[in-house]
Amino acid sequence: MSVFADLVGQDEAVETLRRAAAAAARIVAGGVGAGAGNGAMTHAWIFTGPPGSGRSVAARALAAALQCERDGVGCGECHGCHTALGATHADVRFVVPEGLSIGVNEMRALVLRAGTAPSGGRWQAVVIEDADRLTEAAGNALLKAIEEPPPRTVFLLCTPSTHPDDISVTIRSRCRVVPLRQPPAEAVAEVLVRRDGIAPDVAAWAAAAAQGHVGRAKRLANDPEARGRREAVLAVPRRLSSVGACFDAASALIEAAEAEAATAFAENDTTERAALEQALGAGGTGRGAAGAMRGAAGQIKELEKRQKSRTTRSQRDALDRALVDLAGFYRDVLVTGLKAPVEVVHTDTAEQSAAAAGKWTPESTLRRLEAVVACRDAIEQNVKPRIAVEAMMLNLWRG
Ligand SMILES: [Zn+2]
Repeated sequence: MSVFADLVGQDEAVETLRRAAAAAARIVAGGVGAGAGNGAMTHAWIFTGPPGSGRSVAARALAAALQCERDGVGCGECHGCHTALGATHADVRFVVPEGLSIGVNEMRALVLRAGTAPSGGRWQAVVIEDADRLTEAAGNALLKAIEEPPPRTVFLLCTPSTHPDDISVTIRSRCRVVPLRQPPAEAVAEVLVRRDGIAPDVAAWAAAAAQGHVGRAKRLANDPEARGRREAVLAVPRRLSSVGACFDAASALIEAAEAEAATAFAENDTTERAALEQALGAGGTGRGAAGAMRGAAGQIKELEKRQKSRTTRSQRDALDRALVDLAGFYRDVLVTGLKAPVEVVHTDTAEQSAAAAGKWTPESTLRRLEAVVACRDAIEQNVKPRIAVEAMMLNLWRG
């Protein structure tokens, strides 16, 4: 199956990428660099779109098509396609931030390696997921490489948008932007059925509930714990009956996000620490062991710092998912109250959203929806999550 098959509901983007890959194959055949060709191929790309729209899927697909041995069609079957998609191709590198940011050292090392000739004779591809988490210094290191790219090196960046908060204006100006949109629920459901073998009715429900986020839809369809967390979030609106209840609901939401993040990485953290301690020779009693341990303490501290930052990011992501679910509920109340001809997001709480629509004015529902949006913005601006969530709960209660 084509490497572009999992780009759900993104026909326009797929067409652009297919043309680029075909042009890239002609360039390889002609033995020249990306500056040649007909302009369909270029050195630096930015994939933008809401979470779950497939930014990294698109970047990986193009990286694979560039390695495709069948004229760059991205057949999905040849050795080049396969190894690129499986992240084992020697000429395709991935930068995935573990914590809140991508550091300058990591970027410099990457840029250096990306400057070498592709070992497979085709292209060097560097995929930077979450390019919005580049530190300023890392961004500058990347910019230099993009400004003077080696002839057969391609940078594929993924960011939520091209807003200067997400990507620097200078990097943006050197890249071709491929905007992805939130795929329609039917397209998401279709891929869950086809690719993951999920039953059509479950797929339809999960696709609607995930609001166009393909990965989340798959989790909701497959993971009872993810479904349980979502139900707890959707129970929030009917629980807000007093100031005390608001603070309880805020605590519950924060703690659920913490718990989710903790289970995601606890095992990783322990294994990593054990591996590092072993590498550093912890537990040694011989001469020099004490001195070695003093140096080791610094490395362990560094690891702990990385792990903590990874956990913080993961907590924020979990909390953000909860807020998106919550926003979906108030949106449902609004569209039901206004009798708008669109489907509700959460079909399983349609009764509650209809009841709320009968009780609240559209203005007060809108204020509630805005409270959720404001909470997401505040957390994005580094307001302490607990404070932002408590303020939101009070506004949700008051309306
Ligand atoms: Zn192929």
